[in-house]
Amino acid sequence: MHNKFKLGFFPTPMYELKRFSKNYPGFRIFIKRDDHTGLATGGNKTRKLEYLIGDALKHGADTVITSGAQQSNHCRQTAAASAMAGLECHLLLGGEKPEQPGGNLLLSTLMGANIHFKGENRKGEDTEHLFAELKSKEKKPYIIPYGGSNLIGAMGFAEAASELKMQLDEQRLNMDYIFFASSSGGMQAGLMLGAAMHDLKSTLMPVCNDKEKTNGLSLQEIIRQLLTEGIAQLHLKTPLDLENIPLIKAYDHAGYGVVTHQERSAIKTLASAEGILLDPVYTARAFYGMMDHLEKKLIRPGSNVLFWHTGGIPATFHHAREVLR
Ligand SMILES: *Cc1c(COP(=O)(O)O)cnc(C)c1O
Repeated sequence: MHNKFKLGFFPTPMYELKRFSKNYPGFRIFIKRDDHTGLATGGNKTRKLEYLIGDALKHGADTVITSGAQQSNHCRQTAAASAMAGLECHLLLGGEKPEQPGGNLLLSTLMGANIHFKGENRKGEDTEHLFAELKSKEKKPYIIPYGGSNLIGAMGFAEAASELKMQLDEQRLNMDYIFFASSSGGMQAGLMLGAAMHDLKSTLMPVCNDKEKTNGLSLQEIIRQLLTEGIAQLHLKTPLDLENIPLIKAYDHAGYGVVTHQERSAIKTLASAEGILLDPVYTARAFYGMMDHLEKKLIRPGSNVLFWHTGGIPATFHHAREVLR
């Protein structure tokens, strides 16, 4: 049903953080390394883009349009995917053109993306306008939504749930909880569908990264829509509770992309214990949320806990000053 265009390296590694786990006696903590998916320094968008670029090619597109914050990982990975598939890439980014591009913006520029700065409109508000303009120039544009989070993109994470299930079975492990950063909803919706399809029994612990709405919808409303669509398309038999979509909102008060003591503490802790780098926008916030849950025993002692690393490294260089403070 879905066409896939190969972009990444899978399965990504999954293993125990033995040194970090010593900080929390009674818990075993594991990591899934989607910061090693390939596609211009890795990240969770690789999984979505394999399906989205596959769909673009199926529809005969020669150009891709997508949108995000100025330091969007999704946009940087879309630029890389477009280069690999031979597609022209247009990015609608928040903010104004900086004097010197850094982080993800630098990488997107190097990969030949056409960049349009859109001020406040960081969630694709101006997409239709650019679509019409490219059409009038005889292009065949294909729109990838904000964060790559439609059902097609989410299929990449339905597949990821099956990948993880296989790794757990091979290592004879059960994972009680899975922590990860949730922002545009595609990863979470995909994991929820995939968990139901492949009998992955872990409790999902999505940590909210962005308290603002997207096109008037809350993150849980977006996920509910994706799940409803997914249940119908995939003829899913396992019931999913659409009224109680999990989302941990305790760590997003500072707002999207604002680096606080939480993020600094998570980055330094994991880097010094395991030599693993978290990004300051998404994974550091989610990892801090997990550390807080472990410390306060908000989750069952004696359990196995997985942190799903979703990438985002280039933003570290953009936020160097706040990360070091
Ligand atoms: C996009 C992104 C997320 C969130 O994934 P969604 O599917 O948008 O919820 C988490 N971490 C990183 C590093 C990301 O780039």
